Amino acid sequence: MEKPECPRCKKTGRVKAKGSGATITCPLCMGVGELPPLHAIVENETSLALFYWECSCEIKKHGMTLRYVHPSNHEVCKKCGAIAKDAPLSPAGYAQAFYAILYDLDMDIEYPSDKAEYVDVFRS
Ligand SMILES: [Zn+2]
Ligand SMILES: [Zn+2]
Repeated sequence: MEKPECPRCKKTGRVKAKGSGATITCPLCMGVGELPPLHAIVENETSLALFYWECSCEIKKHGMTLRYVHPSNHEVCKKCGAIAKDAPLSPAGYAQAFYAILYDLDMDIEYPSDKAEYVDVFRS
């Protein structure tokens, strides 16, 4: 399965810094040019994105207030100091909406099949 192309740097891994115009490593994908796939696991009837986590930062867009969703290649939020391994996973639908609203990125939520089978076995 293909990883979503980074919408911030368009897969180049580099962006122009505001002001100076210098080229810097893309802060969204950390220079790899792509984002993790939107794979979901179901926990307590909520689909959580395996590779996306939330910090306590809020951003405003189109009059909405959104909690910031980090891809898993961010180990820490440079703004609020939240650490990935201690932060909650983002609900899959929320991560999908966040990147659609902010970056116009269209990601499909995928449920890895082995996990789905596991859930079926667990419920039967
Ligand atoms: Zn990027
Ligand atoms: Zn933060």
